[in-house]
Amino acid sequence: MEKVLLQKADPRFKDEIAEKIGLEKIKPCYTCGSCTGVCPVRKVIEDFDPRRIIHMIVIGMRNEVLSSDQIWFCCLCNSCYFVCPQGIRFSRIALELQKLSLAEGYVDKNFLKRLEPVNNYLQDLCRRTMFKKVKDGLHGPQTMPCWQKYTVKNG
Ligand code: SF4
Ligand code: SF4
Repeated sequence: MEKVLLQKADPRFKDEIAEKIGLEKIKPCYTCGSCTGVCPVRKVIEDFDPRRIIHMIVIGMRNEVLSSDQIWFCCLCNSCYFVCPQGIRFSRIALELQKLSLAEGYVDKNFLKRLEPVNNYLQDLCRRTMFKKVKDGLHGPQTMPCWQKYTVKNG
């Protein structure tokens, strides 16, 4: 973990992100590592660590987070959401971080174009993860993207 100069930290960053995803606040992270443990991206990109990104948000490393390559790696599979004891939905956080990063010029539209093949790969990884869960016998909310969890009733 990089050293953070306290005067450069932005203590409002966590509230800014919470507001963007429609929460009053981001619940305290237990740093249990369950999210990182189930993350399919982590299995192929070994320094990708959602727990670490949450920690950086909480301590206000706004510039470091928004300029980090890592915020683009999440394949939005929600596997971490289903195991997080605090119900922290990293995929939603990742999307907001990406929007902010673009809006504030940390990346440009050309970057997004160049990222397309990587995104296709990540989406494939996401699909495989969900497929494996279904094959392993899981069904219902555990195998659905979070938006479906709240919009589809299970019979
Ligand atoms: S699973 Fe949730 S509580 Fe545990 S480290 Fe990840 S974000 Fe924090
Ligand atoms: S939603 Fe993102 S961080 Fe969470 S398990 Fe899937 S790829 Fe990993």
